[in-house]
Amino acid sequence: MDKLSAVKGMNDILPAAVPRTDKLPDSNLWQWFEDAVRRVLGRYGYQYILTPIVEPTQLFVRGLGEVTDIVEKEMYSFTDAMNGDRLTLRPEATAGIVRAMVEHNALYNGPLRVWTLGPMFRHERPQKGRYRQFHQLDVEALGYAGPDVDAEMILTARALWRELGLVEGTHVRLEINSLGQPEERREHRAALVAHFEVHADQLDEDARRRLHSNPLRILDSKNPAMQALIEQAPQLMDFLGPQSRAHFDAVRAALDAVGLAYRVNPRLVRGMDYYNLTVFEWVTDQLGSQGTVCGGGRYDGLIAQLGGKPAPAVGFGLGIERLLLLVQALALPVPSGAPDAYAVVPPGTPLAPVVATLEALRAAGLRVVQHAGGADGPGSMKSQFKRADASGARWALVFGADELAAGELTLKALRDGGGAQERLPLAGAAGWASRLQG
Ligand code: ATP
Ligand code: MG
Repeated sequence: MDKLSAVKGMNDILPAAVPRTDKLPDSNLWQWFEDAVRRVLGRYGYQYILTPIVEPTQLFVRGLGEVTDIVEKEMYSFTDAMNGDRLTLRPEATAGIVRAMVEHNALYNGPLRVWTLGPMFRHERPQKGRYRQFHQLDVEALGYAGPDVDAEMILTARALWRELGLVEGTHVRLEINSLGQPEERREHRAALVAHFEVHADQLDEDARRRLHSNPLRILDSKNPAMQALIEQAPQLMDFLGPQSRAHFDAVRAALDAVGLAYRVNPRLVRGMDYYNLTVFEWVTDQLGSQGTVCGGGRYDGLIAQLGGKPAPAVGFGLGIERLLLLVQALALPVPSGAPDAYAVVPPGTPLAPVVATLEALRAAGLRVVQHAGGADGPGSMKSQFKRADASGARWALVFGADELAAGELTLKALRDGGGAQERLPLAGAAGWASRLQG
């Protein structure tokens, strides 16, 4: 029968033991990352939230803006064959979280900090660091208006880099900008349109289409032929009023206070329409053109736009594949996830003492893998030791007949000091378990 393959641009995340040609990060790296996320976000008081992967198409059309890359050409939208509803696989997490907050009146008792993590879907051209199903960590602070939370968001990401062993300024760099308020953007927009109209002959097709629908997005163009024209365009920063300016200055002061270096990038505009005031990105040089690892900002209008009582908010999305590719590229140390011990069970060994001993070791907190499962018995000692080595365990526990007769097993070092061995009592397993802890 023909083999089936995953949908193009959608990847399996596999255990480290499974060889793969595409060198994508293995599931051990994912778990290490997720554990770090839980620790770090817990320290900042963020609470876990899960929302559906499928949402009404209208949520993203209203939330993200009609003239965005995502809504124009990247969404996986379909009609529910049962009832005709228009549905979309979520391309990002913010709109769904805001929908949930509005639906459950979640800000009634005050502001809320939440985070989630999971798959997002965008119909893009797959390449390294860009997939059709990818995963994001998404962090949102809803109901907070002040620049203190903008700074906290950025510092939460920095804390995560530190937890993972990434060095800010070297491995990942921070860029920030302010998009001001809608009326400031309108004035800037008029100046922008005037600038691009004068040079209409130099605009590419995308830009010409956006000139009147969404000229700010022209600044985000990746077309090299347009860069000079974009460079000369009027800058939004020059249109900010005193309040927007003060907000931005306060964010900068907070970052300065903790010695976090950043670059103000006046061309940083971000892909979604809903952003205002602070926007930021963490970028790396290590991943080619897929260099943005994390991006976010303030979106004070979105909650009202999705039918909620007006409330400010700020958040960021982090591309997990990109981050783990970066971790791989830098060869950062990651705990292996290997078991502490591997139990070698010669053919004909009675199962009862083996199971009892291994259960006692696991109850004491050890990671123990039992060689198991052969229909004709467990296989030769040689093949079992090969498996033990491949497992990455530091110790082999050998349940030989002589040992069992004496109520013991043989402990054999597989790594450092390989080959060293000694006998240990089965009955007192809980007593010596801690010696094997990695
Ligand atoms: P890009 O400019 O690279 O397309 P974006 O601005 O569309 O990114 P966001 O919508 O801000 O990205 O999503 C936040 C993060 O999610 C990005 O910074 C990136 O790390 C990651 N990301 C976005 N799209 C993809 C994708 N198709 N595959 C893998 N990661 C992605
Ligand atoms: Mg994109």
